[in-house]
Order: sequence, then C-alpha cells, then structure tokens
Amino acid sequence: MKKMIKCETCGAEFDASSVRCPYCGTGYAPAEEDEYMDKLEEVRQDLHRQIDNGNKQIKKGMGGTVRVIILAVIVILLLVLGGLWLSGRTERSRSDRKKEEFLQNQGITTQQEETIDDM
Ligand SMILES: [Zn+2]
Repeated sequence: MKKMIKCETCGAEFDASSVRCPYCGTGYAPAEEDEYMDKLEEVRQDLHRQIDNGNKQIKKGMGGTVRVIILAVIVILLLVLGGLWLSGRTERSRSDRKKEEFLQNQGITTQQEETIDDM
C-alpha cells in the first residue's frame, strides 16, 4: 500500500516513496534519506559479496598450495631421514653421533631406541 504525503511547498499529494514532489520538485527528506540508505546498503552488500568471494578464492588457492607444500616437505623429510637412517646403519659407529647432531639441529627427534640409549 502506498503512503501519500502532502508537499510542504505546493500542497500536492504524492507517493511517500518519491524523492521529490512531482509537481514543484521540492525534495522530500525522508524518501531522499531512504534512497540514500538503500544505495549505501546496496554498496555495502556488494562490497561484502566481493570480499566473501575474494576470501573464498584466497582460501581455496591457499589450501591447494599449502597441501602441495606440506606434501613436498613430508616427502623431503622422509628422503632425508631415510638416507640418514640407511647411512647410519651402514657406518653407525662413525655417523650415528653426527646424525643425532644433525637431527637435533633441525629440531627433529628420531624417537629411536639407540638415540635414547646414547643419552
Ligand atoms: Zn510540491
């Protein structure tokens, strides 16, 4: 239902949703404000949509990249640890202590019985 208002200047009745009087052109403040707020709200929602989309894309992209990096790190760690373990097995007497030092420098503890025994 349309609400009619009376123009303050010319006294004509017009739709309250009109920004200004269709007869004399006098601005109607509440409608003007509403229109302004509507536009503001539109801009705000648009901005939110764009930010949301951006975040989703960033998260999606980041997720894929992070997974690849984690996999690569795990593979490299396994190779390094496997190599060290093999070399430690073949020449344990000399390289065991070096291996321990290396792993401790890297912040990695091997959790193997022989390393605990050495301590
Ligand atoms: Zn008017």
